[in-house]
Amino acid sequence: MDFKKYIASIPDFPQPGVLFRDITPLMRDGEAFHQATAEIQKFAEQVGAEVIAGPESRGFIFGCPVAANLHIGFVPVRKPGKLPRETISYRYDLEYGSNELHMHKDAVTPGQKVLIVDDLLATGGTVQATIKMIEELGGVVVGCAFLIELEGLKGREALDGYEVFTLMSYE
Ligand code: AMP
Repeated sequence: MDFKKYIASIPDFPQPGVLFRDITPLMRDGEAFHQATAEIQKFAEQVGAEVIAGPESRGFIFGCPVAANLHIGFVPVRKPGKLPRETISYRYDLEYGSNELHMHKDAVTPGQKVLIVDDLLATGGTVQATIKMIEELGGVVVGCAFLIELEGLKGREALDGYEVFTLMSYE
């Protein structure tokens, strides 16, 4: 399937200079949505994922159906102030300012094989933060799956040594 047909590209959103890759047309098409999650599911099976972790909020959209289909759990990775119980957190720098992500402390058990799913790999900051928290909890990151990779931002370099799956890539 030509998945790129279902991605809208919006210049200067949410700020000047950013070419935003909008996945909502793909989600809106039943067959494309099914095929995209099916591809991630195949990868999840290959790497033997026992649980899926997905960063807020588009990681939920693709991670949850895969987890439910495989009868494995899903762990939300969230911005500060969203998770009600004790969390582990990781703060990372952006070009302007910083971001902080949280996971519940009991979300991953030692030795558990975790697949990270998100819509898009840009600089890799989000996925790196997620990896750090999973590993601090004793989990084993068996792979990282994305619909889209923005090659120019070199996020893959930050994922050296990890299995990476992407459905589409842009320069
Ligand atoms: P990064 O941490 O730099 O790899 O950025 C990844 C996160 O930011 C993903 O969760 C994306 O949803 C979002 N993101 C970054 N750049 C874009 C873009 N050009 N279009 C759409 N989403 C983006």
